[in-house]
Amino acid sequence: MTKPKVASDWLAGCAGCHMSLLDIDERIVTLVQVADLRATPITDLKEPDETGVAVGILEGAVNNSANEEVAHRMRSRCSILVALGDCAVFGGVPAMRNFFPLEEALRRAYIETESTDENGKIPDNPELATMTRARSLQEVVPVDIFVPGCPPSADAIFYVLSELAQGRKPVLKDEKLSWI
Ligand code: SF4
Repeated sequence: MTKPKVASDWLAGCAGCHMSLLDIDERIVTLVQVADLRATPITDLKEPDETGVAVGILEGAVNNSANEEVAHRMRSRCSILVALGDCAVFGGVPAMRNFFPLEEALRRAYIETESTDENGKIPDNPELATMTRARSLQEVVPVDIFVPGCPPSADAIFYVLSELAQGRKPVLKDEKLSWI
């Protein structure tokens, strides 16, 4: 039997959600029995390079035009799109800067923050001008499944992926929004 393809990619965030995916540890053996993991942190491919992906997973908020492109590309390639983690679900950490004008956020990041390596100057990078407002994934493309948490637990990720790979819809188990 052909196993459904599963692929993931990053938008703006800290990659912590993908680290949590890696924490499924030895349960990867169970997962690869039901899913063809194409581009995930486990397979080390950077991004899905093909169509016909059954389950696409996106972590992070949409923070600039490059993120928007990735979101549309993943949506067009997969049947079920999963928003993984709070940044993807509602904007999370990247969306905190929405409370400030872009110029102020850039000034704080590059001029007033001591850890910067940009010599106290805002970089001359046209991409920065596209960072108008951090958005949740669903503000940009239709999303089928939301997995909140910062990051979601490895147990929750494993449960959701296992169910989807086997053609079942994962269901929340109780009023605490617990998956397992
Ligand atoms: Fe990082 Fe949390 Fe955002 Fe995931 S939800 S990318 S762990 S900040």
